Amino acid sequence: MKQRDIFRESVFERDNHKCVVCGEPAQDAHHIIERRLFDDGGYYIDNGASLCGLHHLEAEKTILEAQALRDIIGINKIILPKGFHKDNHYDKWGNIMLANGQRMKGELFFDESVQKVLSEVLYLFTDYVKYPRTKHFPWSESINKDDDIISELSVFEEKNVIVTDKMDGENATIYPNGYFHARSVTGNSHPSQSWLKNFVQGFCFDIPTGWRICGENLYARHSIKYNELESYFQVFSIWNEQNECLKWEEMLEYCELLGLTPVPILWQGVFDQDEIHQAFLNKKNASEGYVVRLEDKFHYTEFQSSIAKYVRANHIAPHNWRIKWDASDLNQTK
Ligand SMILES: [Zn+2]
Repeated sequence: MKQRDIFRESVFERDNHKCVVCGEPAQDAHHIIERRLFDDGGYYIDNGASLCGLHHLEAEKTILEAQALRDIIGINKIILPKGFHKDNHYDKWGNIMLANGQRMKGELFFDESVQKVLSEVLYLFTDYVKYPRTKHFPWSESINKDDDIISELSVFEEKNVIVTDKMDGENATIYPNGYFHARSVTGNSHPSQSWLKNFVQGFCFDIPTGWRICGENLYARHSIKYNELESYFQVFSIWNEQNECLKWEEMLEYCELLGLTPVPILWQGVFDQDEIHQAFLNKKNASEGYVVRLEDKFHYTEFQSSIAKYVRANHIAPHNWRIKWDASDLNQTK
């Protein structure tokens, strides 16, 4: 039997072949979180719900929420795709449900079919966009079970690329209104973010409407201790109102305009796997690894085929560093 048939059978069986909402005969073994967000299709019984036609439609539209379905069925184990953060709540399409009822756009948000199905709830979405996760190169030395590897290196071949230091801090996305969020979105009031909170007030009003700036917040020390940082905040990408990542040169111009520091460049040129890795090995200062991106602009939906990273062996990036962090453990600027 095919995986999807086993899924359907086992979900229906658990729910007695009835819609878990209204008790009508079940028509669909619904994926609570969309199968396309999983690299294995997400065919887990705890990611399934038996629904009638009507309630299936409501669940697809997210009028009937993912968590509501889990609650009705009594599912305690929340199944999430790789790179999703267990502290966040997600709708069916991987958009983040914020505590105030609004939603942050996720990786499938811009998909045409998803736009259509979400049409009744689009007003709930903020301009805030989740920073996608970066896939590893096959030669990366710290690949966890939660990480993805880029399968098609051909996306870089014969293309101009920019290789930057992978800075060991916290991912931050900053908006024109001064709001910023880390990758996990929640917990914006952590003491290690106080420096950035003040810093963004100095330039956020100059960010064009609909744009956002992504960079590394290096105020708190994580695994690597930096003693001579150009700045505690270092930019690695700027996104315009079309949700395009600016080409590198243009990003640098905006950095200069706003008085921001870009992440250090390690190498640039036409993609060459060996040369890039050698440039990393030749580096004197300790570094977590490197990030390769296309020099040219690319759209948010092309992120996974435009950026990849290498992380050194045994790099420890504890997810709970915030809890362990001692407020005196800071990096240093020049
Ligand atoms: Zn129903």
